[in-house]
Amino acid sequence: MSRRQRATGYLSTALLALMHLALLLVLVVPFSRAALYPELRFLDRHKWFPIVGYAGAMYLVLGPAGVVWGFVVSTIACLHVTACINSLAHVWGTRRFDTPDTSRNNAFLAILTFGEGWHNNHHHDMLAARQGLTPWELDLTYLSLKALERLGVVWDVRPPSSRPRIGGIVASLELNAPAR
Ligand SMILES: [Zn+2]
Repeated sequence: MSRRQRATGYLSTALLALMHLALLLVLVVPFSRAALYPELRFLDRHKWFPIVGYAGAMYLVLGPAGVVWGFVVSTIACLHVTACINSLAHVWGTRRFDTPDTSRNNAFLAILTFGEGWHNNHHHDMLAARQGLTPWELDLTYLSLKALERLGVVWDVRPPSSRPRIGGIVASLELNAPAR
């Protein structure tokens, strides 16, 4: 290979690298920062908006009682019920999977938390959106996510990675549906 050919090779490689960098700066960076998810960027800038907006909506709809029961009491209850999952769902309930922790499935907590109470299932497969693995394990959060997926609001809702074996019977749910 001549010096001229080698120089041309270096130059074209450098030019290609520069073109990639330019493409990244011109297309990807502005697109990802400025154009994608404007609603999330708005909420990130104005963190007070959901709280104040919700309390204001409760006041407009139901008056002062709406603020007390629809905002203050319900927010405190929601916070405590959510926190219960990391405490009570590690103390009370049953264990389907032999996970290296103390997580448990608790139907009462699952009803209160719209499915989070199937906590042993969650610890078994933490990346799966679905926590209630059988027809009798009601998981309203997962059903909501599936509904939003059908509407195109969310996508790539991750199914559990394997079918649970319950009493020797593989659960008859579509747990292995490929992610879109
Ligand atoms: Zn846990």
